[in-house]
Amino acid sequence: MSHPFPYSLETVVDEVFLEAAAVDDGDVTTYIPELARVDPALIGLSVCDGSGAFVERGDSGHYFTLQSISKVLGYACVLEIFDDETIARHVGVEPTGEDFDSIIKLDRHKRPFNPMVNAGAIAVTDLLLTRFGGEAVEQTLAFFAQLLGRKDLVIDEAVYESEQRTGERNRAIAHLLKNFAILENSVEEVLALYFRHCAVQVTTGDLARLGMTLANGGCTPGGGDPVLCPETLRKLLSVTLTCGMYNYAGQWVYEVGFPAKSGVSGGMLGIVPGRYGIGVFSPRVDEKGSSPRGVCVQKRLSDRLNLHMFAPD
Ligand code: GLN
Repeated sequence: MSHPFPYSLETVVDEVFLEAAAVDDGDVTTYIPELARVDPALIGLSVCDGSGAFVERGDSGHYFTLQSISKVLGYACVLEIFDDETIARHVGVEPTGEDFDSIIKLDRHKRPFNPMVNAGAIAVTDLLLTRFGGEAVEQTLAFFAQLLGRKDLVIDEAVYESEQRTGERNRAIAHLLKNFAILENSVEEVLALYFRHCAVQVTTGDLARLGMTLANGGCTPGGGDPVLCPETLRKLLSVTLTCGMYNYAGQWVYEVGFPAKSGVSGGMLGIVPGRYGIGVFSPRVDEKGSSPRGVCVQKRLSDRLNLHMFAPD
């Protein structure tokens, strides 16, 4: 393991950015056709610390869609609103070891294993719809905006419509959940909200700020008020750590050692408790739906800055 000193954060970010930019594995996502239109060469990186200071490189101002990173935000919202028993009737907290879009895997209680795979996130989205009714899109986006420290958020309508048109695999998952009485609302209503929150546009700066808020006891960086209660944060970070990287989760904790979440748009969120929020974007993803450049950034930062949760000081 290399030791961080005497390097400054700026120097380390410079090195890590160059290293990640040299990685050219993966391909842009095509199963959501609109995502295939992106420039594959884009790469953005933002790191935010507890004071709210940012170190940013590359295409950090480029907008991309949250995709699966929205699962963290949706689950946070449900944890704030519902009691444990209600949530546990809809979704568990166990890693699956399966791909994010696995159709068949429900646990012995006939519920999705966790909220970080599509089945679980669709169950979570159903809870949001039940609570917010006709206001569900506005209320969900308002909650996301608060966590992201943004006044408002924009949905990429082209990406939303593209996934609506082609999202038969998620339809199959949602029908399965409906069959097991996990969903209260109609499959199409739930998917419309799910596809919308996946299509929320953000930058790597937004993700870094969100990561720092989650790393900072739920308080926005720079001395902001808490936007999440401590119990929500504890549960959210636990599940993100153990389930956020899908079938790579064990290896992730082993190698990197802090919670992270990737999305098929190429975005990646890293949460380093007490230290940093990390946002990465590069559109080419591996067969697990994570950006190899994003993975490289998180691994290298963990190594260079000694960020693994079990690393000795
Ligand atoms: N909207 C995507 C889907 O449900 C999100 C998947 C992902 O980012 N891993 O398939």
